[in-house]
Amino acid sequence: MKLTIIGGGLAGCEAAWQAAERGVDVALYEMRPYKTTGAHRTENLAELVCSNSLGSNLPNRASGLLKEELRRMGSLLIKCADASSLPAGGALAVDRDQFSGLIKSTLEAHPKIRIIREEVTTIPDDPAIIATGPLTSPALSRALAKLTGEDQMYFFDAIAPIVRADSIDMSIAFRANRYDKGEMEEGDYINCPMNAGEYMRFQKELLAAERIVLRDFEAGEIEKGVKAGSDHFFQGCQPVEIIASRGERSLAFGPMRPVGLTDPRTGRWPFAVVQLRQDNLAGDLYNLVGFQTNLTFPEQKRVFRLIPGLENAQFERYGQMHRNTFIAAPKVLTPNGEFRQKTGLFAAGQLAGVEGYAGNIASGLLSGLNAVQYLRDEAPITLPLTTMTGALMHYITHADLKDFQPTKAMFGLLPKPGDEMRRGKRERFEFYVERARHDLEAYLATSEFMS
Ligand SMILES: Cc1cc2nc3c(=O)[nH]c(=O)nc-3n(C[C@H](O)[C@H](O)[C@H](O)COP(=O)(O)OP(=O)(O)OC[C@H]3O[C@@H](n4cnc5c(N)ncnc54)[C@H](O)[C@@H]3O)c2cc1C
Repeated sequence: MKLTIIGGGLAGCEAAWQAAERGVDVALYEMRPYKTTGAHRTENLAELVCSNSLGSNLPNRASGLLKEELRRMGSLLIKCADASSLPAGGALAVDRDQFSGLIKSTLEAHPKIRIIREEVTTIPDDPAIIATGPLTSPALSRALAKLTGEDQMYFFDAIAPIVRADSIDMSIAFRANRYDKGEMEEGDYINCPMNAGEYMRFQKELLAAERIVLRDFEAGEIEKGVKAGSDHFFQGCQPVEIIASRGERSLAFGPMRPVGLTDPRTGRWPFAVVQLRQDNLAGDLYNLVGFQTNLTFPEQKRVFRLIPGLENAQFERYGQMHRNTFIAAPKVLTPNGEFRQKTGLFAAGQLAGVEGYAGNIASGLLSGLNAVQYLRDEAPITLPLTTMTGALMHYITHADLKDFQPTKAMFGLLPKPGDEMRRGKRERFEFYVERARHDLEAYLATSEFMS
């Protein structure tokens, strides 16, 4: 049994591992380093292109539940994330190089996996998974558009800048996690506090700052008919200047909200806070949380240095805007992630309409398993809709196409408890988690899923 997997990202690597572990010969194609995407910076497999956080690790959060399920189902990538984790409160943040390195060495050592560094520009005739992500190369994007008969749907995202830790003025900034009163020195985040005057000035300069003209950004790759506007960004990754344009206080209620962050110098919550999260194991790089941006590089330097504590910040990487490609999954894919136009061809990851690192790993895991089922001529695997993984995969292939956006794990995708009106939020979340655990165990006990 042979399977081609295109894209050595989060979904492609997970799919390759799952299929190979079940005896399938996998050819995994990755175009880097010969052709890059504009956002990836290394030739690593499963490179994390922006944040180094895979989201919440708390069991009573949707993203935490998703990871718990992935651990239970034997995800290679979550195992590697756990092994390369960094302190980040309740989140699963990783040293990105260690994370990618572990995945690369594991896949390279697998006797059933062959890694081929080559761009794929046509749709394979034989069984395959396309997991080329939001930055699918233009040639393959065109081939996909031809296959599906759908116009490509392009959206835009933006990534946050990274600064050197030793350039942050710690006589102004302070370490703390939200609500960690009394444990300031042990906080995982560095917080830059602002008073009302500093905030208003920052907000004004941010709005007036020069932005990168979209057409210049990915010379020639952005196809006609696409405009950059707020509606073209995913909610969770909106540029900070777009959030600022929504209203004077929108940043203070959004990425700069100060709740639970007591400034040790005043003993009070500041008016607003810019949080920085550790970005590498060495702890010498920090990213500005929620500060994805499309400002020009000189303007980022000028405006972000207005943040108290960052007056002399050295930028390791500036924020950037990028293309985001995905297919109309509810129309194009069957519930098991197979293209309606071509049996034996699967889509996985962000290209298939899943958002977020952990979600893309989940999508890769299931597409790998379903490709194996296809090769074995067995029925596809459909997880219970009450599990976070099952609900997410169900949503992307059943959502209303009119408003379809790549979607991440959230409790809102799960079937309601029925007596919801009588439950509080915490009680409802506990119910979702317990039900998901129970139903996944019951499913795994009765299926041949693990073999
Ligand atoms: C710049 C950026 C920032 C993001 N930030 C975050 C974030 O902070 N948090 C978060 O949860 N999610 C983020 N996302 C969304 C998403 O979770 C990630 O993009 C994630 O890596 C997607 O996983 P994937 O496996 O679908 O694609 P990828 O991980 O991008 O993997 C796709 C791989 O396919 C390769 N490829 C592309 N075309 C071809 C071809 N024709 N032939 C061979 N190989 C090819 C690419 O080089 C790449 O390695 C971001 C996305 C982008 C683009």
